[in-house]
Amino acid sequence: MDSVITIPALGDNLIYIYRYGQSECLAVDPGDSPAVLEVLKEYGLRLRTILITHHHYDHTAGTVELKQRTGCTVIGGDPRRIPAIDTVVENGQILTIGDARIQVLATPGHTRTSVCYYVQPSEDSPSGILWTGDTLFVGGCGRLLECDAQAMWESLGRLASLPDETLVYCGHDYTLENCEFVLSIEPDNEVLKHRLDEIRQIQSRGGFTVPSTIVQEKMTNPFLRAGEPELKAALGMECARAVEVFAELRRRKDVF
Ligand SMILES: [Zn+2]
Repeated sequence: MDSVITIPALGDNLIYIYRYGQSECLAVDPGDSPAVLEVLKEYGLRLRTILITHHHYDHTAGTVELKQRTGCTVIGGDPRRIPAIDTVVENGQILTIGDARIQVLATPGHTRTSVCYYVQPSEDSPSGILWTGDTLFVGGCGRLLECDAQAMWESLGRLASLPDETLVYCGHDYTLENCEFVLSIEPDNEVLKHRLDEIRQIQSRGGFTVPSTIVQEKMTNPFLRAGEPELKAALGMECARAVEVFAELRRRKDVF
């Protein structure tokens, strides 16, 4: 039994259900209540908790209805902008949900109050699980809407320092576009060309490109590779600092 169920919603959003115990679960960023209710019914699950990574509508729109229908608790990092929030979390806090220990990582960048959730390795999830919302995507990162490049770069560094095998589940499927973007900068990078083939195969089978892993992202995600000489050279920024390279990549991606 997979502990994580991935629910595509609203075009390119990804909602996650994490099962634990006999028939309990939590939901991450339920932007679409009917889609979640359908999965609860299909699998016979009881929703206990909602984890919100940030306040944007496409990540929170189902929250009020799901709380009304199930009596679940809503957890997030923004007391003012997350609807129906019960518990406000802060960096480093550990949530105990079922047998899972879930660490809150503050990751300002996409928004000021974005957080990620790290399920520490256990018997149920030996690799550990990371829910990244719109901070880290497979092959990309979120737009800088409320913070500067320095803040996002530091947040991404915090995620990259998690164990290599950690499974990465992000808030949107932008994987193909992200891969095409980095290949537009490094067209001869064999690792990336191979990765693009892999992504196309997964998508042609109707599969998901999540989960990725931390090591996969460190190897292929340009926003985590901004310190690498090869990428700096490809941008003509050999002498620039990593955060400057990161900012330039983000600017280019905004108009890609
Ligand atoms: Zn967002």
